Amino acid sequence: MKIIADAGRCIGAGQCVMAADSVFDQSPATGEVMLLAARVPADEVDAVLEAVSTCPTGALSTAED
Ligand code: SF4
Repeated sequence: MKIIADAGRCIGAGQCVMAADSVFDQSPATGEVMLLAARVPADEVDAVLEAVSTCPTGALSTAED
């Protein structure tokens, strides 16, 4: 599973980092989401899906490989 982050829609709310801090980080300068991994690690699938569902702007999505 791939992770897709649309930084243009990100408002820096940080829910994604709270859900999965091994996959998501935020730019120190802008607060925009940064991906630490292009693919979802097997043990982070649930956390990433939670991040996708709780992002307030719909900036995150996933796609099958
Ligand atoms: S939860 Fe959404 S809006 Fe908040 S930092 Fe992550 S991608 Fe950006």
